Amino acid sequence: MSRSVLISGGNRGIGLAIARHLAAAGDRVAVTYRSGEPPEGLFAVQCDITDTEQVDRAFGEVEKEHGPVEVLVANAGITKDQLLMRMSEDDFTSVLDTNLTGAFRLTKRASRAMLRAKKGRVVLISSAVGLRGESGQANYAASKAGLVGFARSMARELGSRGITFNVVAPGLTETSMSGQLSDEQLEGMKSQIPLGRLARPEEIAAAVAFLASDEASYITGAVVPVDGGAGMGH
Ligand code: NDP
Repeated sequence: MSRSVLISGGNRGIGLAIARHLAAAGDRVAVTYRSGEPPEGLFAVQCDITDTEQVDRAFGEVEKEHGPVEVLVANAGITKDQLLMRMSEDDFTSVLDTNLTGAFRLTKRASRAMLRAKKGRVVLISSAVGLRGESGQANYAASKAGLVGFARSMARELGSRGITFNVVAPGLTETSMSGQLSDEQLEGMKSQIPLGRLARPEEIAAAVAFLASDEASYITGAVVPVDGGAGMGH
């Protein structure tokens, strides 16, 4: 069955892998991109998720092309790592504004049509760091932990309307985000991962696709780690 899907930050990394996975399964996939080039072969709309008007306009364009959004994947996110004493207020609030408030903006706009349809799937991309914390990532971890409370509140608020909200918490994944780490940092982190390697974006996409599928119809408010075992116990 072909559904109208919207993925924020779907022009590269994990978002693009999710988009390719769902498109290959037959969904009508739209992605948002902010800078750079839109990805080939996918319907793409430009959108900065820190701007409510741009979010509204992006949904309008997707609705015109593919119909009301039935599956939302809130994936776009940023890091601005810094130790607390060096972290500016802007470092903190801008990461929260993109990662957490951005997901709120997308979810709020998407829920309009989902409420009307009395069904919908929302998957929020958090991080293993949101559950266990990380030195130098107080802003990022707070934003990603916030997504869990947000999703679980939504699961309770809109469950009776047939909309599910789930969180995927990836561990370190091979994208430009993890590419910012030094070889030494990477080796240190790999040693903490039972599977001994980083995730491939396709491995995150597989979990998202499952939570967005009919098979996951009775799963809501869940946090699914895809982290090679790194976050076990959190
Ligand atoms: P990338 O840095 O490769 O891609 C980030 C994406 O988010 C890009 O498409 C980017 O758009 C988009 N984006 C960033 N800010 C905005 C904004 N204000 N408005 C719209 N789009 C924006 O990241 P990943 O693919 O690695 O990460 C995807 C998600 O997975 C993020 O939420 C991240 O926190 C999470 N994650 C990643 C992990 C990793 O190790 N890579 C581990 C755990 C979680 P553009 O290219 O146009 O700038």
